[in-house]
Amino acid sequence: MNQEVKSGKILSPSTPWTERGVPGIEVPDEQQALKATFTEPTVECPECHALVTRTAMTFNAYVCPQCDEHLRMKARDRLTWFFDQVKTELGQEFVAKDPLKFVDSKPYPERMVEAQKKTGESEALIVMQGTLKDVAMTACAFEFDFMGGSMGTVVGDRFVQAAERAIALKQPFICFAASGGARMQEGMLSLMQMARTSAAIQRVKEAGLPYIVVLTHPVYGGVTASLAMLGDVHIAEPKAMIGFAGKRVIEQTVREKLEEPFQRAEYLLDHGVIDQIVHRHALRDTVYRIVTKLMNLP
Ligand SMILES: [Zn+2]
Repeated sequence: MNQEVKSGKILSPSTPWTERGVPGIEVPDEQQALKATFTEPTVECPECHALVTRTAMTFNAYVCPQCDEHLRMKARDRLTWFFDQVKTELGQEFVAKDPLKFVDSKPYPERMVEAQKKTGESEALIVMQGTLKDVAMTACAFEFDFMGGSMGTVVGDRFVQAAERAIALKQPFICFAASGGARMQEGMLSLMQMARTSAAIQRVKEAGLPYIVVLTHPVYGGVTASLAMLGDVHIAEPKAMIGFAGKRVIEQTVREKLEEPFQRAEYLLDHGVIDQIVHRHALRDTVYRIVTKLMNLP
């Protein structure tokens, strides 16, 4: 008599005993097993190409559990991970305009809509207020996937407003930088944000409040030349690339091959540009320690 096992296989009396299922134990067939493997979205590590589930990555703060590579974190994930408790989000009222009616291969508003669809964010800078171990802070983070985290007028507006709110509430101001620089579609108006944000940082310092910059991979151009290099303390994540002009541009100018780790955080630490390199898992504790020290908190 044929015996039907839950795997759906029909077993005849001639089937060898090694292929007969154990009664009462469900044997998933191959297809089901494959489905189970791929139902959870995975993230591929760009360094060691390990496939890690998104859940595991989120729990590990987007640090590869295999090779310790620091993957890019989305701005919103970054801030919600950084704070124990998020209180408010600032700056959502600022919306980009197209004052120059700029068109390259596509009109600027079209690029904007594309970036908004891709990231789910309205602009390249996210600002939140919240607490980290009972210390209230204002923090902002650049969304690199939004037009390369470029600094346009809205990014400037949000940054300045964040600095002002930090001053009003006597909170330390933290910036997670990741940007390609100024936003060329806004021309001179974009460059003006360098001066604007620098002035806002100066006001934070005059109010006696700490401004701490965390440099995440990559920080370039006008952002390096302004808000990302004006911190009281500069922390970088391991292997983050930080510079003004890109490596290729410099190579073409000086006509020399620049070897690794040129422009990497480790190289910059050796040359005194940044203060320390901190593993992402130790970042929250480090920022907390620096803030409490600088503000004389218990
Ligand atoms: Zn890896």
